[in-house]
Amino acid sequence: MAEETIFSKIIRKEIPTELLFQDERVTAFADISPQAPVHVLIVPNKLIPTVNDVTAEDEQTIGHMVNVARQIANEKEIAEDGYRLVINCNEFGGQEVFHLHMHLLGGKPLGPLLS
Ligand code: C5P
Repeated sequence: MAEETIFSKIIRKEIPTELLFQDERVTAFADISPQAPVHVLIVPNKLIPTVNDVTAEDEQTIGHMVNVARQIANEKEIAEDGYRLVINCNEFGGQEVFHLHMHLLGGKPLGPLLS
């Protein structure tokens, strides 16, 4: 069994966050340390530690994460200018919290990916 992270507590609303979306599959909340004017994390409610742990049965959830990201980008009015979706995986990918999450970043020009 994978160990819970702080994101499980956020999903269960045991610690406060700026919650932007929640349904039976996915939760989205504002990143505590924003790297752009819009920085939202979209996480599966199920504890999947990394992309390496995604299985065929998670396909709908992963697809839903993209739909939720697009919906929030529209609500935040950053869709037309554009935005970035990022999932970091393990050490070389820069992952710090081992509960799969998608970053939605936007609201300013983000520049090249690895700058
Ligand atoms: O992809 P990575 O694991 O590096 O990203 C973790 C993200 O989780 C960071 O952007 C960090 O600011 C965010 N975070 C958060 N709330 C916490 C702990 C981390 O929004 N309580």
